[in-house]
Amino acid sequence: MKRIYLDFAATTPVKKAVLSEMSQYFSNEFGNASSIHSFGQQARHAIDKARSNLSSFLNCQASEIIFTSGATESNNLAIKGFIQAISGQSIPHIITSSIEHHSVLDTCKYLEKNKLAEVTYLAVSKKGIVDIEEVQKAIKENTVLISIMYVNNEIGTVQPIREIGKLIEKENRDREKNHSNLSSLSQIYFHTDAVQAIEYFNHDVAHLHVDMLSLSAHKIGGPKGIGALYIKKGTPLQPQIIGGWQENRRRAGTENVAGIVGLGKAIEELKIVNCKLKIKKIQGLRDRFIKGILQNIPDVILNGDSILRSPNNANFCFNYIEGESILLNLDLQGVAASSGSACTSGSLEPSHVIMALGRDHRTAQGSIRFTLGEGLTNSDIDYVIKILPKIVKKLRKMSPFGGKRD
Ligand code: PMP
Repeated sequence: MKRIYLDFAATTPVKKAVLSEMSQYFSNEFGNASSIHSFGQQARHAIDKARSNLSSFLNCQASEIIFTSGATESNNLAIKGFIQAISGQSIPHIITSSIEHHSVLDTCKYLEKNKLAEVTYLAVSKKGIVDIEEVQKAIKENTVLISIMYVNNEIGTVQPIREIGKLIEKENRDREKNHSNLSSLSQIYFHTDAVQAIEYFNHDVAHLHVDMLSLSAHKIGGPKGIGALYIKKGTPLQPQIIGGWQENRRRAGTENVAGIVGLGKAIEELKIVNCKLKIKKIQGLRDRFIKGILQNIPDVILNGDSILRSPNNANFCFNYIEGESILLNLDLQGVAASSGSACTSGSLEPSHVIMALGRDHRTAQGSIRFTLGEGLTNSDIDYVIKILPKIVKKLRKMSPFGGKRD
């Protein structure tokens, strides 16, 4: 049976070049990067090389990169670590959006629950975009941190990160004018979760005007369990994992050398590939897919914006049926997709992202995310366009809500 993987936002296969570069760090060059002998030095050198790859990719200094266990940790470190570092007498204010990944949302809820911060969760438009004017309106005197994701992991919408970054800089300039002795703690800092954006969008931190940026290797052809946080020099940060001097005392623990090498190589591979050509190809497949689904299945809604969206994302609500049943039927025919994000699959609650678009509970439960990646062909896409209408028709016949509709 043909097997077609349409879940690249959940994870990607490790690229051959990445695996081959990593493999020696499990065996021949297994040293601990903190050891002073030659084994340790080799490991240290490999980490330095990966850090330098990443810093040139993001256009920042090598010392501004912290390697973590993935973007969940990067987001926790950025938000919790920042708030704990500035904690004083008054409760600071954070602005985020209602469609963030749970590693941002739950971290914000934790801070609220423990009275360490107050948080504004911005609503998004019906197309899933954060309105920059709403960001401006939400800023208060005690606002210290804004965390908005770059590309949404479920509906692929692209947020106006650069514009928000510039708005924050203007706000900081105004604050400086009004309070001549502005300390670094009364600025607003800007964090973005760029996990789903790194492969397809501008990742220059100076261009984006961000102070912190999270990313993860396994979404870009690297291994699982390794990620990074870019943190601009001077940004307050309290380490979350303590007990060692690694990562410049900002993240303790023996470094995952092979993982770091894998992340560095995955980044290098992104630089080698002709990005424009790759994006054009994936976007072409996505458009073919969206058109095919909307033309061949009635009562389907495309979630998210049709233009401001990642080139690899198509997310639909199939009315009258549940996403989980569609997924199981697709899987039986060799097609892998997902309902919502991989981190919450198994939960019976409809996706918070689809609900934030204003869909009702039942419609939201019929949502499916298809995310494309390298190696897919027109014939793969056409196969799914051929089998999915039949699956939907069959399920609607069985559904108490959809029997007469199709
Ligand atoms: N943020 C976003 C937008 C994601 O898509 C993911 C992965 N589902 C994460 C954070 C968490 O990344 P990791 O798996 O590296 O912890």
